[in-house]
Amino acid sequence: MIIPELDHPTLHLAMAQFDLAAEAMNLDPRFRERLKTPQRSLMVALPIRMDNGNVKMFMGYRVQHDSARGPSKGGVRYHPDVNLGEVAALAMWMTWKTALAGLPYGGAKGGISVDPNQLSQSELERLTRRYVAEIFPLMGPDKDIPATDIGTNQQIMAWMMDTYSQQVGFSVPGSVTGKPLSIGGSLGREEATGRGVVDVTLEALHYKGIKIHDTTAVIQGFGNVGSHTARILHEAGARVIGVSDVTGGLYNQAGLNIDDIFQQHKFGIPIAEMKVGDHLTNEELLTLDCTVLIPAALSEQITVKNASHLRCQILTEAANGPTTLEADEILHDRNVFIIPDILANSGGVIVSYFEWVQDVQRFFWNEGDIRQRLQEIITSAFHRSLLFSREKKTTMRLAALMSGIDQVAQAHAVRGLYP
Ligand code: NAD
Repeated sequence: MIIPELDHPTLHLAMAQFDLAAEAMNLDPRFRERLKTPQRSLMVALPIRMDNGNVKMFMGYRVQHDSARGPSKGGVRYHPDVNLGEVAALAMWMTWKTALAGLPYGGAKGGISVDPNQLSQSELERLTRRYVAEIFPLMGPDKDIPATDIGTNQQIMAWMMDTYSQQVGFSVPGSVTGKPLSIGGSLGREEATGRGVVDVTLEALHYKGIKIHDTTAVIQGFGNVGSHTARILHEAGARVIGVSDVTGGLYNQAGLNIDDIFQQHKFGIPIAEMKVGDHLTNEELLTLDCTVLIPAALSEQITVKNASHLRCQILTEAANGPTTLEADEILHDRNVFIIPDILANSGGVIVSYFEWVQDVQRFFWNEGDIRQRLQEIITSAFHRSLLFSREKKTTMRLAALMSGIDQVAQAHAVRGLYP
């Protein structure tokens, strides 16, 4: 059942995936409705004084999908299309993602319906602080820990941590992750999702018997996840032949100069304005002939319309929910090896967990430790999913989902139902 306030295509996708996994694993019916329905959904009104003196209203959301295994964890998205239903879907995926990685967390997600590029820094700061003030009763290092997502960054996390700390009267670094280093951020957090995407892609290439130097890669989205994925994959020896952002894409069959693109991106130059390689549209980019295709932008980019035109051997889902259910079936029939989102992009929450552990313990690790522990956790989740998919003769997506759902169901089973 989806209540009207939550009705959204992304939630339908998350729930349909859950149903398929629940059926395949023969999940106890007592848990099915319970695990599908978000535990807490909060909608908040955010009146903000704009720089011109007017007051403008924004809507904010926070959904805690499940907290049976620990405090809930998940990013905060600033994007005009954010709504309660989309946030609920993303929260549900966080529950399976944290369980699959074996982290002691439940899943949550938040967001504000806003285009952050249309606000000044001071308007953005007031919006962020008001959002934290409104969700304050639900958040905290032992309750629910926000982090970055689309449209949010380290500075926004710093304002969130500061607002939370002001409310309780002392500094609580573990209240938020993705913070700057100076207030308890972790080394390696900024690139963590991209590094994890590369770690699992390398495992998939190895499994498929493809050498890194024979690998071509195409990446959609050049934000936090896409840009670091491109850089680290290029450093590992792959030929990155296509990249894009919302303005358009770049292509060079011989391999793009990723260092140059990365530097230009740092200076805020949109891909469409860069003079590197040939220009193409996002639709054309997705259908380039390549070894690995990595969607790292928005959800539902690979649909029934373009799935049969994709020409990749491996699809690494860096974005959340980039493939629709129908497209998934087409790709399965076409033998494309899919590394599902809850596995592929879990590097971000894994290093967020490291950041929270370091903050809580007041003891900080070096970057080598972080990279090694990230690689250990994410590659073992990859191999567990692969083994499960071979044993159960199912897809990597269902294997990863079943593995995560099973952990959460076990937690509910032993905790029982209150009252
Ligand atoms: P971001 O805001 O830093 O970057 C998003 C990128 O996508 C930008 O380059 C933007 O130009 C591009 N984009 C937007 N609309 C597009 C379109 N229609 N076509 C092509 N490109 C488009 O966001 P991010 O943090 O890199 O997140 C990207 C995806 O990864 C999201 O699905 C997010 O939920 C997921 N994710 C992020 C993290 C993280 O740690 N940041 C962790 C796990 C999953």
